[in-house]
Amino acid sequence: MAKNSSRSIGRHLLHIPGPTPVPDRILRAMDTPMIDHRGPEFSRLTKRCLEGLKTIFKTTKPVIAYTATGTGAWEAALVNTLSAGDRVLMVETGQFALQWKNMAEKLGLKPEFIKTDWRVGADPAEIEAKLREDKNKEIKAVCVLHNETATGCLSPISEIRKAIDKAGHPALLLVDTISSLASTDYRHDEWGVDVTVGGAQKGLMLPPGMAFNAVSDKALASSKTSKLPKSFFAWDDMLTMNKQGFFPYTPATQMLQGLSVAIDMLHEEGLDNVFARHDRLAEATRRAVRTWGFETICRDAKYYSPTVTAVLLPEGHDADAFRALALEHFNIAYGASFGRFAGKMFRIGHLGDVNDAALIAGLAATEMALALAKIPHKKGGVQAAMDYLVTQHASPARAAG
Ligand code: PLP
Repeated sequence: MAKNSSRSIGRHLLHIPGPTPVPDRILRAMDTPMIDHRGPEFSRLTKRCLEGLKTIFKTTKPVIAYTATGTGAWEAALVNTLSAGDRVLMVETGQFALQWKNMAEKLGLKPEFIKTDWRVGADPAEIEAKLREDKNKEIKAVCVLHNETATGCLSPISEIRKAIDKAGHPALLLVDTISSLASTDYRHDEWGVDVTVGGAQKGLMLPPGMAFNAVSDKALASSKTSKLPKSFFAWDDMLTMNKQGFFPYTPATQMLQGLSVAIDMLHEEGLDNVFARHDRLAEATRRAVRTWGFETICRDAKYYSPTVTAVLLPEGHDADAFRALALEHFNIAYGASFGRFAGKMFRIGHLGDVNDAALIAGLAATEMALALAKIPHKKGGVQAAMDYLVTQHASPARAAG
């Protein structure tokens, strides 16, 4: 097609699995004059945000908000609870699990990595078996991702908690919810999680730049004896200052302005409706993928992710070239491929401020791009997704959204 300029027309279709589209209402809330970050108005804002976050993590315990991305909150979870040489049990669900494991090694921990083929979530039975083998209770923490963003596999956290208990093992449970929080059901207290790691730029619909640790009493107790060096990420300074609505350093003030509104928006929709919307968008996406004749990377329905669907392209077709073509012609961005699936898959993010019509636009752009790229596929994926969404809206029991 002839081109006069490089200006891209209309809205960019941001279908990466985070950062997700930031709603205008949040952008407006962030677009405010600076206020004193040690003054009374800011203290009220901080307290509102930290209390509000508890309702999202479903905890009555403290939630710590760092000026960092998710990677920082990973580090915070490890350095506050563990000591050099501690053994930790991790599950290789995909690229992000691998990165957390690499970080643990760099910090002087001794990770034991349960392998998978990157096409399933973490298996509670395998975790239980590993913990039973640890007769001397040397493993200090089990670290798992709730949602592996690299593959689109969700792990059963409450089952993993039960597995740890069945093994009679005292290890802490550390869970990464960076691409699941505020998009699918998550219960820090009820599921007995010790540290939940979260990030701003996905289900919370904010820009990147803030990340969280929700902390159980047991984790807090571990922080009193943990010996890994910590300063910026130390929980004790944070918790002391947070009580007054302040931080030990200058926080990302505009992120808090946005966060306060994001929490309101999630509750206005209703968390259960937010979760039902994500389930619906994920199922519509999978129906499109199936109709096209492709496999999802997640190969077992019990692990299907509500927030991201990774699509395996037929042999001989380069997924990175496909992403570049789709971006150039249809202004759509997908998540890149990683590790053992480098160049073989692309990931469709369907999380955050996304509604049915926005998803259909993304799937339509994808179906056009597949045709343009001459990747063999069956037509009708978008139709299958639309048909499914219509049935969901027609059903009297449907969730709002
Ligand atoms: N964990 C998961 C599951 C992620 O999806 C990501 C990033 O996408 C990270 C950790 C790393 O977070 P960040 O890139 O915000 O540092």
